[in-house]
Amino acid sequence: MTENATGPGTRAVWAGEQRATGGDATQTPVVHSVSYGYADVEQWMSVARGEESGHIYGRNTNPTVSVFEEKIRVLEDGEAATSTSTGMAAISNTLHALLAPGKRVVSVKDTYGGTNRIFSQYLPQYGVDVSLCETTDHDQIESEVGRGCDILYLETPTNPTLKVLDLGRLTEAGQAAGAVVVVDNTVATPINQNPLALGVDLVVHSATKYLGGHADALGGAVVGRDDLVERVYAYREINGATLDPMAAYLLLRGMKTLHIRIERQNANAQAVAEHLLSKPEVTAVHYPGLPDHPGHEIASSQMRGFGGMLSFGLRGEFDAVRKFIPAMKHAHAAANLGAVETIVAAPATSSHVECTAEERAALGIPEGLIRYSAGIEDIADLIADLDQALDAL
Ligand SMILES: *Cc1c(COP(=O)(O)O)cnc(C)c1O
Repeated sequence: MTENATGPGTRAVWAGEQRATGGDATQTPVVHSVSYGYADVEQWMSVARGEESGHIYGRNTNPTVSVFEEKIRVLEDGEAATSTSTGMAAISNTLHALLAPGKRVVSVKDTYGGTNRIFSQYLPQYGVDVSLCETTDHDQIESEVGRGCDILYLETPTNPTLKVLDLGRLTEAGQAAGAVVVVDNTVATPINQNPLALGVDLVVHSATKYLGGHADALGGAVVGRDDLVERVYAYREINGATLDPMAAYLLLRGMKTLHIRIERQNANAQAVAEHLLSKPEVTAVHYPGLPDHPGHEIASSQMRGFGGMLSFGLRGEFDAVRKFIPAMKHAHAAANLGAVETIVAAPATSSHVECTAEERAALGIPEGLIRYSAGIEDIADLIADLDQALDAL
């Protein structure tokens, strides 16, 4: 794609914004209109048939939402992009549009909690066979794919334990079996990782997290092969999980600073991870930017930065979590991630609240784990805040 002649920062700022958006406004307007009137029936019909560009009805397309789709398309360097009301809508609409009874999905145990629920509960209800592998067992994933696979669904790094999957290797295996390979790139963001460049067919995003970056708008996106995006769009249009134009505007506004936020969050997460290694109250630090992280080598080869999220274990298990979280002064205790503010959460109360302690343990999520989403604050303040909260234990 020609867009990649420019750097990611230029793309974050300009992609999608250069098209005519009405009048002389330099900023993308929020078009709230639900419908678009045509005086000429012939033109109306040709827009409806897709022969001419234009908009008909807001559930299908909208001018503000189209700019959002173009910006994420260019950032991921995909052939096409469509949008959804939330990240979960991007994931569920992709799966429902591309699957049918008798089809088979191969994925891993450590996908996002909502995604895992689709795999374990809802797809089986529709006669879709789902095989969930041990997350970093590449041999097992390849052998399950070899038994027949229509969708190979991956996420890397994972949330909250930051496991890393080799996208090049697994994509090759998936495509050799005739599968569509889908990757959730929410945690990495297109600044740190472009799965499509590694051969992946579709990327899904929760735009709610790093893309928007300010925790004030929900949204999702699907980017990649034109024919596949078209099928997801056709399903989403009928299913009705449309991105709201005001949310699209807020997400666009956030995405213009994506590259500088991610640079800062990468640096803050790396510094926090290194600092925590020396703390006696901390049992383990999970961050792909640490040289002894099991996925460090793969992450170094497929990512440009190691991301803004890490997790760590506290000695003292859930009692320590209970004291630690309220002691943090410059961090929200909240369920989201990827915002400008630092956010701390216990998987036992957020991403994996539905599981029992035993189920969490089986997923490698101890009760003393803290998920830490680094914000863009000053690193000295973040470290001082962690030190005083750990001292309080
Ligand atoms: C939050 C999240 C989702 C779901 O996104 P929503 O916008 O909350 O629906 C999916 N995948 C990952 C990795 C997430 O962090």
